[in-house]
Amino acid sequence: MTTSEVDRDSVFSGTFIGGVWAPVAPGRGQLVRDPADGSVIGEIGDTSVVECLAAVEAASGALPAWAATTPRERAGVLRRAFDLMQRERDVIARLIVRENGKLLADALGEVDYAAEFFQWFAEEAVRVGGDFRLAPNADKRIVVTSQPIGVAVLITPWNFPAAMATRKIGPALAAGCAVVLKPAGETPLTAAYLVDLLTRAGVPDGVVNLVTPAEPGPAVSAMLHHRLVRKLSFTGSTEVGRLLLHEAADQVISCSMELGGNAPFLVLADADIEDAVEGAMVAKMRNGGAACTAANRFYVHRSIAEEFTRLLTDRMEELVAGRGDDPHSGVGAMVSDAERDKIADLVDLAIDEGAVALSGGRRPDGAGAFYPPTVLTGVRHGDSITRREIFGPVVAIAVFDTEDEVIDWANDTDMGLIAYVYSADQARAMRIAARLESGMVAINRGVASEPAAPFGGMKQSGLGREGGHVGIEEFLETKYLAIPV
Ligand code: NAD
Repeated sequence: MTTSEVDRDSVFSGTFIGGVWAPVAPGRGQLVRDPADGSVIGEIGDTSVVECLAAVEAASGALPAWAATTPRERAGVLRRAFDLMQRERDVIARLIVRENGKLLADALGEVDYAAEFFQWFAEEAVRVGGDFRLAPNADKRIVVTSQPIGVAVLITPWNFPAAMATRKIGPALAAGCAVVLKPAGETPLTAAYLVDLLTRAGVPDGVVNLVTPAEPGPAVSAMLHHRLVRKLSFTGSTEVGRLLLHEAADQVISCSMELGGNAPFLVLADADIEDAVEGAMVAKMRNGGAACTAANRFYVHRSIAEEFTRLLTDRMEELVAGRGDDPHSGVGAMVSDAERDKIADLVDLAIDEGAVALSGGRRPDGAGAFYPPTVLTGVRHGDSITRREIFGPVVAIAVFDTEDEVIDWANDTDMGLIAYVYSADQARAMRIAARLESGMVAINRGVASEPAAPFGGMKQSGLGREGGHVGIEEFLETKYLAIPV
């Protein structure tokens, strides 16, 4: 990215209400830093609580006209947004690298994935169905229609700054809703860029608003207590999600929650070991391990554990931690020093509990939020590292003996987002998948995320689904009309 491109992005103040960028108020700037070296790459404003409520009102004001547009018109806007994202793919990806630290290849992959939500929901906008039936006792006809749920507050995390936003904005706009987006404080510039892109695609003033309060708690609470807000769509940690469910309860706001994961990666005795290693690298190392879908616990059958571990360690050792835009880097920076330290502390704890680091495992000296690719063996199910989300480039391997045992281990968690199963016997893998308590199961694959498929978790990993045919329904209200026969 050229300096002028960074400058151009940073003129977006972070607060966009009713089609107007508010200037950064003196003394209320928040610096955005590149986690690879700590340098400042932009500044955004600290949106006040009053401004957040004004954003809700701007959305509410714009809602009736947007809801009244034809599905074809809304589809056209989303399609133009998809085209713009494709055209500006490289600029967006480099911005993501700068504020998030991830590899450029991962950022490019994210932009493609993110853009596809606009294309997919452009297609879904014109396919919202209904129902028309005779009541069982033939006293009336039942007509079922749907309408936009209303003003939606969208809250996103830092690990996929573009995709987590488009996965919400796409279906919300397709359904005819108006939104207030609150991105993570670490990565607001990508969100600001996307909001600008949407206006260029033809989104009318007030339909998409952006707020960047420095303290999200009070600002989000105020929005969730505004009587015009009808929807909360949140992606982030289970801890914050739980707080927001309590907040949303006061006004009985509809909630879609994409929360934390703790994905088990099962390698059965009959698995193709090289395939499993390949899949493990993707499931673990995509996004530097900072994905809710990242394989968190590797459970490998005793008969193949040694070979699997050796091959995977060889692959992990090839990866060098470095700047995301350096083509020689195999893993980029973590999003912040604090996030890197969380990973390092968890690895230290795992070693204290008996794990052995075959590679990595030590917090590097020097500038930048880097953590080396790490492989831990000797992990036992139940150790802290199998209970918490690692969110970094750390493989933790435990050995199992029986199928029932490994299914019990996989399900022995409050989370239930995704699980991975490697077996040469597809029917067996499907049988195991049916017994796993997770919203998604990847069979002999290291990645499952796909805009055309429903993404989401069971148990404390979330409520509702994003993407697929059901994604738009999260932003629609069902209405039943009883009419004469
Ligand atoms: P986080 O929960 O700390 O923050 C998420 C968002 O909530 C951010 O915008 C943050 O500013 C905001 N927030 C924080 N405290 C808040 C409060 N008190 N009130 C209102 N808003 C608040 O999560 P994170 O660290 O940004 O992201 C990592 C987490 O997100 C991981 O647990 C990961 O598994 C999860 N995640 C889940 C999915 C999914 O689809 N299930 C996808 C990506 C990330």
